[in-house]
Amino acid sequence: MLAELQQIVQRVNAAANLHEALEIIVHRVKAAMATDVCSVYVRDPATPQYVLMATEGLNQSSVGKIRLAAGEGIVGLVATRQEPVNLANAADHPSYRYFPETGEQQFSGFLAVPLVHFRQSVGVLVVQQATHRVFAKDEVAFLVTIGAQLAATLSYAALGSAIPPREQGPSGPVGLIQGLPGAPGVTIGNIVLPSPLADLDVVANRVPVDAAREEAGFRRAVRETQEELRASADRMEGRLSDETRAIFDVYILILGQDDLVEDVVARIRGGNWAPGALRETIAEHARVFEEAEDPYLRARAEDIRAIGRRILLRLLSDVAVVKRYPSETVLLGDEVSLARVADVPHGKLRGIVSLRGSVVSHTAVLARGLGIPAVMGLGPRDVRALDGHPIIVDGYRGRVFIDPLPAVIQEYRRLVQHEGQLSAKLTGLQDLEATTTDHVRVGLGLNVGLLTDIDVAANVGVDEVGLYRSEFPFMTRETFPMEDEQYEIYRQVLQAFAPKPVTMRTLDIGGDKPLSYFPTTEENPFLGWRGIRFTLDRPDIFLPQLRAMLRASVGLNNLRIMFPMIGQIDEIKAAREAVERARGELREEGYDCPRPLIGITVEVPSTLFSIPALSRHVDFFSIGTNDLTQYLLAVDRNNPNVARLYNHLDPAVLRALNGVIRDARRCRKPMSVCGEMAADPGSAILLLGMGLATFSMSASAVLRIKWVIRSFSSQRAKQILYRALRMESVEAVRNMLDDELGRAGLGELVLT
Ligand code: PEP
Ligand code: MG
Repeated sequence: MLAELQQIVQRVNAAANLHEALEIIVHRVKAAMATDVCSVYVRDPATPQYVLMATEGLNQSSVGKIRLAAGEGIVGLVATRQEPVNLANAADHPSYRYFPETGEQQFSGFLAVPLVHFRQSVGVLVVQQATHRVFAKDEVAFLVTIGAQLAATLSYAALGSAIPPREQGPSGPVGLIQGLPGAPGVTIGNIVLPSPLADLDVVANRVPVDAAREEAGFRRAVRETQEELRASADRMEGRLSDETRAIFDVYILILGQDDLVEDVVARIRGGNWAPGALRETIAEHARVFEEAEDPYLRARAEDIRAIGRRILLRLLSDVAVVKRYPSETVLLGDEVSLARVADVPHGKLRGIVSLRGSVVSHTAVLARGLGIPAVMGLGPRDVRALDGHPIIVDGYRGRVFIDPLPAVIQEYRRLVQHEGQLSAKLTGLQDLEATTTDHVRVGLGLNVGLLTDIDVAANVGVDEVGLYRSEFPFMTRETFPMEDEQYEIYRQVLQAFAPKPVTMRTLDIGGDKPLSYFPTTEENPFLGWRGIRFTLDRPDIFLPQLRAMLRASVGLNNLRIMFPMIGQIDEIKAAREAVERARGELREEGYDCPRPLIGITVEVPSTLFSIPALSRHVDFFSIGTNDLTQYLLAVDRNNPNVARLYNHLDPAVLRALNGVIRDARRCRKPMSVCGEMAADPGSAILLLGMGLATFSMSASAVLRIKWVIRSFSSQRAKQILYRALRMESVEAVRNMLDDELGRAGLGELVLT
């Protein structure tokens, strides 16, 4: 049973669309359980009703027509109760509803299980039998397990336009997908899939510009792959066993088969570009082998896929040049890497949508730095066919509309216009100070990472750069940048803001910031070799970075150095020694580098209880609320499954922050916040109440936060804080803050 189950789930996950997935389910489940009927009802988010979307055993003509509200019929009951129902004769049940068009009067035995995703019923899976019988325990377990595994896949797929619209009345928003807010703003643009194309599974379908050229290119790629395989086989002669070398022969043989090549060609002629046609064909051919009983034959499926990847690599060289970016590009991908963002020509990128991640993943951080909206954590789904489709990105509410209806577009045009007006209004604050109504002056800092941030950041009216994320230049390259390269970059940053201070954080890789050229595998990367833990172990990487920073500050003297992920006193001592060592080396080489101010990011919970001790070794502190929140709440900042538990307004987080800011004040050490919390207007009131000295954020948030600070007195902020500290939930805190913003005349910041 287990093998059967795995096979069904695999097949469903590989399906090209919802329709295909549902067909696979009903066909395979009916066969596996030897029932007379298997049907799937899927929740239509627009109504919301449960719609019969696929069946084997009932009349096909009823598909798309049978609709049941929650609680209606046995199917509706299962959806509401979220529990299986197992009946010897369905017609005896008080909730039974009879639909003559299904032809179900001939069936008695009835087993239905709910498909539940994130506490919501997204569908119901049903099997039926002609005989009167209660299904056995292991059959129920099988169906429940299938349902549990498929619920997420179906829920994501069903949010597209696959539910047939009701016969009358308006249909709901087509292609509305709820994710998580990543970076504020709204935009209307066109999807570009930055697929890592060597991965055949994620290649998109696309209409070819010139089908004849695609076909010729594909045939050439096949020929070249054959030649390459023959050459490899020859090279390996004598070095590999005959048996292993025979694999090459198998590959060459498969490639020589006309049906594989001709199937791809037929698909190209049918209107798909070569990589898309190749993906479909390889999947189809591999499936034939996957279904075989014989394990040897099943293994051939992997051979077919390996060949597919080889041909794709050949096609790639052509493809790379053809990648075009529309003037309103919205990058959509599983994870939109920094390198893919950097590929988009300047001025064309309007939005980022990532299937994974959350507000604090670095893709979102980057989007905020660039001042473009981002939506994160849409969850796993098939996006291959979406290249070029229109999309609305709502970074405030964390949702996107794919192929939106004209009315939705109109609504969002209004919002875009409103945003423009709000920015124009805020521009008036640019040259004003961030001072509360009772004359407390607050410092404002910028968070920057890429050199492009500097252009965006010009003239937003800040006092300093509160966080320069030095890993960003490391992440957009293919090898570790050398000291001189780093020097050039740091010098530009320091020069751009001089004489204002710039806090450069040393390399903070690990966690969700891996380097493609330095792969590490850890079970718990966020608790692993991250930030200072990595750099202290690798002086060969750490010292050149420190030297580059120190050299870059010569004559400017505006460098501050901050160490990430410090959890212990010994770490800060060792890091300081490394700075002194770098200074000493440079002195010998003739550079006179002034001693920079040195600080740490407060983000590991242990530091919350060690501020007095740490104060003896640092000049300043900056709270990294992104990581501190995840570590305090034990919630991975990038995991959409637990995203609703991640919130810096959690009263426990607020109490921790209040304590640490108080401790730093007592130790007379400056304290700032450089996590995303500082950019959240409601949270800013609380931080103001805590007596925070400096707020550091991406350029797009600066004027909004300045507006908040200039609208409250520090006394009022304190009162609001004390109320929040006594609250019991994030919702209570958030509602109160929204009210307070509204009362102070800043309601627009709540709306957007
Ligand atoms: C933080 O953790 O809050 C922070 C500012 O650093 P990063 O988001 O880069 O980890
Ligand atoms: Mg951090």
